[in-house]
Amino acid sequence: MTTQIRTQPACAPRALATILTAMLASASAAVPAAGEEAAAPPTVVLKAAHVFDSTGATLKDGGTIVVRGDRIVSVGGAAPAGVRVIDLGDATLLPGFIDSHTHLTMEFEKDYYHFVYNRIMRFPAEQALYGAQYARRTLEAGFTTVRNLGASDFVDIGLRNAINAAVAVGPRMVTAAHGIGSPGGHFDNYAYPPDRVKPWGPIEGICSGPEACREAVRYQMKWGADVIKIAPSGGVLSETDPVDVPQLTPEELAAIVSEAHKWNRKVAAHCHGDNAARLAIAAGVDSIEHGSFLTEDTLKLMKSKGVYLVPTRMAVYWTNKNADNYPPNIAAKARAAAAAHGNMFKAALRIGVPIAFGTDAGVFPHGMNAQEFGLMADLGMTPAAALLAGTRDAAKLLGLETEVGTLEAGKAADIVAVPGNVLSDIHATEHPVFVMHLGRIVVQKGGS
Ligand SMILES: [Zn+2]
Repeated sequence: MTTQIRTQPACAPRALATILTAMLASASAAVPAAGEEAAAPPTVVLKAAHVFDSTGATLKDGGTIVVRGDRIVSVGGAAPAGVRVIDLGDATLLPGFIDSHTHLTMEFEKDYYHFVYNRIMRFPAEQALYGAQYARRTLEAGFTTVRNLGASDFVDIGLRNAINAAVAVGPRMVTAAHGIGSPGGHFDNYAYPPDRVKPWGPIEGICSGPEACREAVRYQMKWGADVIKIAPSGGVLSETDPVDVPQLTPEELAAIVSEAHKWNRKVAAHCHGDNAARLAIAAGVDSIEHGSFLTEDTLKLMKSKGVYLVPTRMAVYWTNKNADNYPPNIAAKARAAAAAHGNMFKAALRIGVPIAFGTDAGVFPHGMNAQEFGLMADLGMTPAAALLAGTRDAAKLLGLETEVGTLEAGKAADIVAVPGNVLSDIHATEHPVFVMHLGRIVVQKGGS
């Protein structure tokens, strides 16, 4: 009896792991991924009128890319004879787009309380099924890599693993598990009575004091986080906190950043407020997300320290546009952030802060990510710089620059084509005619 009780807990996880491994193996064999019928032959040649390879800011005419398996073999060279050629005609070939700020397991809802309910009341399995749908939509929109900055119940970790195992179809995911923040702060904004809904703790990313926050980081990494997301400042879509106040102390920030960096995990800091951003930058974070109320001094500090700005213009635009649907305090925060954000972005451009493309998809409907290119261009960013932000520079922020972000021999065959000359019409990015991820064709409209 005693033996049975002792052996069961030790055996159960192994048995479960064996079952899961068997399920994954059979599922990946049985379930064809999108485009598998059109799966890449050993070698394929892509041709189009133009290519923007993201190694610089220029567009070249006469794009030819040779792909073998999941790798790019050559760009601009001669095409080998006797292999399949896909000629996309009057289009621009580009590296697969990278969104540095998504939430693939949640989705915009017009009704704020419905949005909240879906986020935290759905069963994890249900969230995962929705997430798989949003992941596929994101990939079909041309985004072959995303950095997913916050999800409940480790559903994002499961989604990433399922995509990697070819059980689900979606972009390469660099993912954060739970965002880390303070009780009552932006990531803990649901003020339900504690006797009805158990308050969240470090496992769910909510912590007070440096040691609890260190523990929160360790838990996210233990269960598979590739990056750490934190909320040093208040936010827009949370009911109970001011949008710009600091919500983590310098001691908590130092504990979080040092712990994450020890494991080579970067730290992405959600910050609208300037004071909060300065504390986060002093602690050594790698990027500031949103940045609505950043002052020029803080932007200069970011430039000097190489801290990226991930502007999420789409989230700012969308929450402002839908402000009437939100509770009054959230509407007021959305409008205040939108009023400040445009000038902040222009100052960041002028100062030369490194900018990585990121949208906050999930705050708006998945699949609209590429509208961010046009929104950045509207504020004076050149189309070429916007494209670099969404390819080469985002890859650097994610630490994936040797794998993705440019069209170069040896890199992953993550390739997008958009109609016409992309530098003449940046909105062409919103209508990809061809998407290839790791050599596998996901979208092909037209071409021969
Ligand atoms: Zn976000």
